[in-house]
Amino acid sequence: MTPMSAPQTVRCPNCGNIGERRYLHSSNLVRTQCPHCDYLMVSCSETGRVIEAYSPGLYLPGM
Ligand SMILES: [Zn+2]
Repeated sequence: MTPMSAPQTVRCPNCGNIGERRYLHSSNLVRTQCPHCDYLMVSCSETGRVIEAYSPGLYLPGM
């Protein structure tokens, strides 16, 4: 476990560009953001449950 919640680079599921994923340890949330298409997803790091999701233009495949 890292003491700092440094953002990880992840591939955006919406547009395929590089976004970032940040862990919010205080609230056990994971926030994934993409600066290219304004994709946003907030999910619980314990249960994987999606708290909030916003994907402009396209819907997530398989949902
Ligand atoms: Zn994107």
